[in-house]
Amino acid sequence: MTSRIVIIGGGQAGGWAAKTLRDEGFDGEICVVAEEEWDFYERPPLSKAALLQPEAAFPRLFSEEAQQALNLTWYRPLRAESIDREAKAVVLSNGERLSYNMLLLATGGRARLPGEAWAAHPQVYTLRHWQDAQRLKSRLAE
Ligand SMILES: Cc1cc2nc3c(=O)[nH]c(=O)nc-3n(C[C@H](O)[C@H](O)[C@H](O)COP(=O)(O)OP(=O)(O)OC[C@H]3O[C@@H](n4cnc5c(N)ncnc54)[C@H](O)[C@@H]3O)c2cc1C
Repeated sequence: MTSRIVIIGGGQAGGWAAKTLRDEGFDGEICVVAEEEWDFYERPPLSKAALLQPEAAFPRLFSEEAQQALNLTWYRPLRAESIDREAKAVVLSNGERLSYNMLLLATGGRARLPGEAWAAHPQVYTLRHWQDAQRLKSRLAE
């Protein structure tokens, strides 16, 4: 029986889970549902090199070749909106249902603001994603 593992979350945990599954010999389908459009990347550089270095490289978790070798099926940029445990399916933000044999939640954390008004404030920034770092960097340069 072909087995399918669905990983929700394309962060470091999701990336290492996929890599470890392959390293340990899992040869079924690995699907990654990721709301970000990017390949797996590391966040620590976002508050360091990505802000300080003019031409900071995208901090990939794995080289392009290494990630290609994992043979993943990406669903991105899409959110997992709900999980139908009875049917063993994940419902995606485009309405698609993705069935699974096994499911891994690697949804990490998110930046929280004290209230909604803060999100609209022009001088309040959150720093969680690659785009956040790019935005903050350009404002800091000003
Ligand atoms: C600016 C910054 C600096 C940091 N510096 C350090 C450091 O110096 N040292 C250190 O040890 N740690 C540091 N950290 C913490 C470290 O980056 C985190 O511990 C790590 O990113 C956790 O990885 P994760 O994969 O569990 O979660 P995350 O990195 O949060 O990844 C989860 C992913 O899942 C996605 N996701 C969430 N919900 C859904 C959904 N429903 N559907 C689809 N996708 C979804 C998110 O968009 C995200 O891409 C830093 C973090 C930040 C933000």
